Amino acid sequence: MANAASEQRIWVKVLWRLAAVLVLGALIGPALGGYANGVLFVMVPYVSWHIYNLYLVERWLRTGNISDVPDSWGIWRAIFDRIYRLQQAERLRQRELGKIVRRFRKSSAALPDGVVVLDDAFRIDWFNDAAKVLLGLKKKKDVGQRISNLVRDPHFFEYLATEDYSRPVEIGVSDQPGVVLSLLIVPYDSNQYLLMVRNVTRLHKLEQMRRDFVANASHELRTPLTVMKGYVDALDDEVDSLPKHWQKAWKAMSNQTGHMQRLVRDLMVTLRLEDKLLTGRDETIDMVRLCDDATRDLKALAEPDVGIEYTLSAQTLLRGNVTEIQSIVANLVSNAINYMPKDYEPGQGKVLIKWRVNDKGAELVVKDNGAGIPDEHLPHITERFYRVDNRPGRLQQGTGLGLTIVAQSVTRHGGKLSIKSKVGKGTTFSCQFPKDRVLTATDGNLLKAG
Ligand code: ADP
Repeated sequence: MANAASEQRIWVKVLWRLAAVLVLGALIGPALGGYANGVLFVMVPYVSWHIYNLYLVERWLRTGNISDVPDSWGIWRAIFDRIYRLQQAERLRQRELGKIVRRFRKSSAALPDGVVVLDDAFRIDWFNDAAKVLLGLKKKKDVGQRISNLVRDPHFFEYLATEDYSRPVEIGVSDQPGVVLSLLIVPYDSNQYLLMVRNVTRLHKLEQMRRDFVANASHELRTPLTVMKGYVDALDDEVDSLPKHWQKAWKAMSNQTGHMQRLVRDLMVTLRLEDKLLTGRDETIDMVRLCDDATRDLKALAEPDVGIEYTLSAQTLLRGNVTEIQSIVANLVSNAINYMPKDYEPGQGKVLIKWRVNDKGAELVVKDNGAGIPDEHLPHITERFYRVDNRPGRLQQGTGLGLTIVAQSVTRHGGKLSIKSKVGKGTTFSCQFPKDRVLTATDGNLLKAG
């Protein structure tokens, strides 16, 4: 307020001074042969003084020595003061900013993880010491280079191209066999990026050890289990002649060996899916036929208690691995039947299998009107060995691996599994497959699919 008032006062003074100059011109005008001559006579030095001051400002700003404030008075003194104060404030701000940047660089340089600052075209602006070591970057040579010219890995190229940076990508290092780096792009500001680099070799080794252990244990268990199950099944015909308590024991043995066999089988499938070892060729799949094949045995077991209905588009074909897609359908449908409440009347339980084209590609839906899954379990339902409760199902005791296999297989096909459920109403599993995996039936590809 005070500043505004003093500025107003300065301008009042300027106007008064101008008025005084004009009055002076008018007074001496008659002596110079007219009012206009008088005004011109006083205005020339007045305007010249202003031009001179303009020259002083321009020279002052050009030479750049801001503490050399030109000497003047009146409005020009106020202007020079104002410019000087603004420049001082700006310098202070820059100094503060410089301090912040230096502090940020020092702290980022000390980070054990690599940090690379990238511009909107993924060119390197800056990187810390850890990034230098992990990615083999060179300070002078590599600043301004595109990161994809320096980190030459097909997985990283794909990661940059997909523009989905919600998860990191893992890459190997060409000159250091066995070393695995995890790279994560973090977008910030508008179109600026941070690339975070971590050495995850140790984690990878641990993960590999876990897989090797599970694979070996499952493999070793398979033979003794087959032998045990063989003997248990061989007793099937004679079980009625056994004493009552042995009949009970036989039933428990038969159930448990069956459960362990399923567990070992499912474990091996999840491991092979993780290691991408199910490398069967992609084929053009006739989904009508596949759903029929995958559910024939289940249908026989379920009906008439649980009805299975199909709404399948014969025109829509899927390019994928038959074994994996079959296991998706079989797992989802067997779950739908398995977890149908046991107190339902015959025919009350319904499972609907849909296969249809949509704007994102095509969708496989398995919907039931069963018990539903409580909300708190939904985020975990595809985790390994996760089970909502240990109630035995209608068909068999679960292993907690079925939905893990489904989720892994859908992801391997570039798809997305989503689950909607309401307790007491039922559950809908939807596998959305991308457009590049979906074909429309023509004579040529129908022949292949058949
Ligand atoms: P499981 O071998 O136990 O069936 P899954 O991974 O297939 O393992 O399923 C995990 C859990 O999710 C199951 O234990 C079950 O409680 C629940 N679940 C799966 N599908 C359904 C469904 N259609 N209706 C109700 N609950 C389900």
